[in-house]
Amino acid sequence: MPDHILQTTGVMNGSARHFDEALDNWQQSYLSAMPFPAALITFNNKKPIVLFCNQLFTDIASEPKAANLSPWEGDTSVNLHPELVAALKYAPVSQDKPYQFDWMPPGSQKRRCYKITVTMMPCQTHGMTCYLMVPVDNTQAAELRSTMRMKILRDSLTGLPNRIGFSRLLDDVIALEKGTKGTAAVAVIAIDLIRFSRINESMGSVVGDELLVSVARRLASVLRPGDRLGRIGGDQFGILLSLNLGTSDVWHAARRIKALMSTPFNLANLKVKVNCAIGFSLMDERIEVSEDLLRDAQIALKHAKETDHVEVYNVGEASVLQKRFSLETDLRRAIENGDLHLVYQPILSPYNKRVVGFEALARWNHEQLGPVSPVEFIPVAEESGLIVPLGRWALESSVRTQQQWDKQVGYTLPMRVAVNVSALQLMRDNLMQVITDIKNQTGMNGERLTLELTESALMRYPEQSVSVINTMHELGIKISMDDFGTGYSSLSYLKTFPIDHLKIDRSFVANLAEDKTAVAITRAIISMASTLSIKTIVEGIETLEQRKIIMDLGCDYAQGFYFSRPLPADEAIAFYLASNKN
Ligand code: C2E
Ligand code: MG
Ligand code: MG
Repeated sequence: MPDHILQTTGVMNGSARHFDEALDNWQQSYLSAMPFPAALITFNNKKPIVLFCNQLFTDIASEPKAANLSPWEGDTSVNLHPELVAALKYAPVSQDKPYQFDWMPPGSQKRRCYKITVTMMPCQTHGMTCYLMVPVDNTQAAELRSTMRMKILRDSLTGLPNRIGFSRLLDDVIALEKGTKGTAAVAVIAIDLIRFSRINESMGSVVGDELLVSVARRLASVLRPGDRLGRIGGDQFGILLSLNLGTSDVWHAARRIKALMSTPFNLANLKVKVNCAIGFSLMDERIEVSEDLLRDAQIALKHAKETDHVEVYNVGEASVLQKRFSLETDLRRAIENGDLHLVYQPILSPYNKRVVGFEALARWNHEQLGPVSPVEFIPVAEESGLIVPLGRWALESSVRTQQQWDKQVGYTLPMRVAVNVSALQLMRDNLMQVITDIKNQTGMNGERLTLELTESALMRYPEQSVSVINTMHELGIKISMDDFGTGYSSLSYLKTFPIDHLKIDRSFVANLAEDKTAVAITRAIISMASTLSIKTIVEGIETLEQRKIIMDLGCDYAQGFYFSRPLPADEAIAFYLASNKN
């Protein structure tokens, strides 16, 4: 070992010198014979010093200049690369724990990557603790890792960042934007190709792929420097837009995209026109991670698909949706566990208060939230499709309750139970099948049942509705048009639907006492219905005054808090018996 090292490390032991020299030679030859790069190092004031190393090690770990100047020959004047010196300085090497780190020698064209292991030697050399340092070429594994990373972050078809890649880009921008106050400087535009799946199905997936590549190219052409494009879903693209002139930049970009997409695409010798929906969200202080901004843009996109306009995300919508989603989960469970129940509101004659039937209304007592109004949970049920099982349950339970009432009094009560049927039930559920099933299970008689269909549901699906109504009539079931006065309210439409009852909505009734026009309109509705042999039920009667007015107007039946609130089954039958005594 050269003297300068022994001097700097301060361990010159004369008596052991002869033996140590022999050991040095042996260690040096041992290292030289190794077929892989290796060095024996020690530390002086935390600075790593190479005691011995082989040529393979010098080629990798020394500074290029030093390597050129001193071809190795038992000389230890190897200058470790400064980056390595820095990495080794605080190397936490202990007796039982080797230290490992990755290192890429800088400079060379094709950069290599080494995993370096530093292991403490069991015995000392010249009284110094020594370490074996072995760099292992890890380039292939590193390249594989980087290819895998590329694959994870990129869409192989278009070469664009995929959803994960796009999210990473967003995260970087969000991290930069966070803390800068003021107007939004970044927007995310989400673009969805309308009816893309039809192109895929009718022209094949190869043509579908071709279209996606062409769309990606067109979208890329609207980008300005700094904007980024990604494919964030099957037929969805995202643009990360930096805003120089505020929100107007986004509207401008959206218009350009719409214009670009309006030119047909040439696909398989055909000119194919593709529509797209566009929604966007703006960076603000609520945004923590990329998923927030992407989710907002996709909520706006969902609106855009419904409205056919470019839509911007409204702050707060996500939490409303989240609330709705958790309500949906809870409602699903409530239906499965039988946690819903029905209450019954009397429908009666306003003249003599005799009850002719009850409307069954769903109630839900939520474990944490307490009673949740059907005004809140019925729309959730409709949107999620839960209205189908809920509707079946409401029909069956009300039929069974009515049968219990009959049993209780010992005869067949001359009244009907009215059950609400939503538009979706009308469309999705096979109502006829449901009714037949319930009939088979309970022995129900159609003459005891009324179905309430809202005015808007009937208007939305007129043909379907007419055919359902006719089938129900064959079974003796009557049909009420519910909430009349809240939708189209076209009197001429009444002729179209062979309905039995018309329920005039309570919003209409609320100002009967003050508003002469409301009175005139209600009179017209009642007289028109009467001409068509449709019975009228006025909903929401809350006062004696309202009762008197509707009696003057000649309506047939009434319903409202003035007469009775919706009641649990046992109270409802008691109310019936008390009202219909003689
Ligand atoms: P709807 O079918 O028009 O039912 C009448 C609603 O008016 C009921 O509200 C009833 O409690 C309320 N009401 C009755 N009289 C008065 C009154 O004098 N004043 C006031 N302010 N309100 C009165 P509810 O029970 O909250 O139900 C709301 C809506 O939820 C129902 O309107 C119906 O559309 C829907 N719904 C309830 N149960 C079901 C069900 O089982 N299936 C379906 N599809 N919809 C249901
Ligand atoms: Mg109703
Ligand atoms: Mg109603």
